[in-house]
Amino acid sequence: LLIAKNIQKNYGDLKVLDGIDFQLEKAKISAIVGPSGAGKSTLLHILGTLDQADNGELIFDNKDISKLNGSRLSNFRNNAIGFIFQFHNLLPEFTAEENILIPAYISKRDQKESQIRAQELMKILSIDNRAEHKPGQLSGGEQQRVAVARALMNNPSIVFADEPSGNLDSKNAEELHSLFLKLRDEFGQAFVIVTHNKDLAAISDERHEMRDGKLDKLN
Ligand code: ATP
Ligand code: MG
Repeated sequence: LLIAKNIQKNYGDLKVLDGIDFQLEKAKISAIVGPSGAGKSTLLHILGTLDQADNGELIFDNKDISKLNGSRLSNFRNNAIGFIFQFHNLLPEFTAEENILIPAYISKRDQKESQIRAQELMKILSIDNRAEHKPGQLSGGEQQRVAVARALMNNPSIVFADEPSGNLDSKNAEELHSLFLKLRDEFGQAFVIVTHNKDLAAISDERHEMRDGKLDKLN
């Protein structure tokens, strides 16, 4: 599904990514662990086309996407990629449902169909009774599930998540992790997840450690 080859990224003299190779298959959860400042978020953003590498190749579904730019890049990102951040990044003035609908709105998808999809997602994520709530009226776990629904809205091939349970208590974290497994098993969803959470790394299909600019596969 996704192949990255020899990804390099420098910030000035700082070599953050020093030739990273990475592969992801459909319906797999891949975890990236490693110390703070190792470059995990930088790698995630590059794999998810939010940021550009200085060097290297990114192949998605056999297509080279490393050189995409402008509207072709934003179309690709908006339709093939979902992102979940540590702090959910929901818009506070909008309801849960409106937040979930944002990617569909950006992609100018059919309104009626998008609403049906948003309602389906809210059911799957058990937040259908929270549709009209604003983020400030939701618990941390509910907010994160709204962020998951938003990431899934356009039916992306890959969901990238940066410390998705970093801000949740253990019960909500566990619920979120089971949800990832359910999305993998029932919908074939692929995930790349940066995490410090040992449980989440343990239930992932594969683990990688980021250290000194390199990515190593762990058993
Ligand atoms: P954490 O676990 O703390 O989130 P991380 O592994 O995600 O860490 P990154 O955010 O990828 O680490 O940062 C890797 C290194 O690159 C850090 O030393 C950071 O200071 C540096 N860095 C990140 N973004 C920039 C930037 N835009 N400009 C300059 N340096 C940056
Ligand atoms: Mg980070």
